[in-house]
Amino acid sequence: MFGPSVTNGFRVPPRRTADIRRHATHVRRLFGLPLEQGFFPMGPFIESWTEWGITYDIASAGDLPPGVEACCLPEKGVILLSERTYDMACRDNPRARFTVIHELGHLALSHARAFHRETAAPGAIKPYEDSEWQANQFAAEFLMPLADMQRKGLTTTNDVMLEYHVSHAAAQRRVSQLAKMQNGITGKGFGARQRSKP
Ligand SMILES: [Zn+2]
Repeated sequence: MFGPSVTNGFRVPPRRTADIRRHATHVRRLFGLPLEQGFFPMGPFIESWTEWGITYDIASAGDLPPGVEACCLPEKGVILLSERTYDMACRDNPRARFTVIHELGHLALSHARAFHRETAAPGAIKPYEDSEWQANQFAAEFLMPLADMQRKGLTTTNDVMLEYHVSHAAAQRRVSQLAKMQNGITGKGFGARQRSKP
C-alpha cells in the first residue's frame, strides 16, 4: 500500500531483484541486523526507526480506508500503521511483519510520489517497475535473506516459515522464486497483487 487512496501499484523506476536485495541488505546492516541474524523481533526494530529519521504513526479510526493495514507517506518519511497491524507486528505475527517491511520498502526504494501521477492501462506496468512488486520483493529479501537461507540450508516452505516467522504463502513464494532462479529460469518473481501482503 502506498498512500491512503492507492490500492494498485504505480510505475516506478525499474529495479532488478538483485538490486532490491542489495538495498534490503544495506538497510539491515544500517539497523544493526546482519543477514546471519535471520529472524529479528519486530517491536524493537520499529522503535529504532526514529534514529534514522523514520516516523511511524498509529492510524486513528478513519485515517486508513477499510481493509487497509498500513501505508507509506514517502515525502514525510512516515509509515502509518493500523493499530491492529502495529499490535500484531509487535507480537511478530507473520502477516503483520510482512506488511511493516513492505511499507519500509517503499521508503528504502525511494518510491517518491512524483512517480505516482502516471496512469497506465491494466497490465501495462511490468512487475519489476511496479511499486507493489518492488516493495513485496524488498520485504521478502529483508525478512528471508538469501545468504542466510543458503547458509542454514533452508529449502522447504516449512523450514522458511519456522525460521523467519513469515506466512506459509510468503515462504512458499520465496522458495519457489529461488528455485526458479537457481534453475536459470527468468522468473519475474512475485506478480503485482492487490492487497498482497501476506
Ligand atoms: Zn505498498
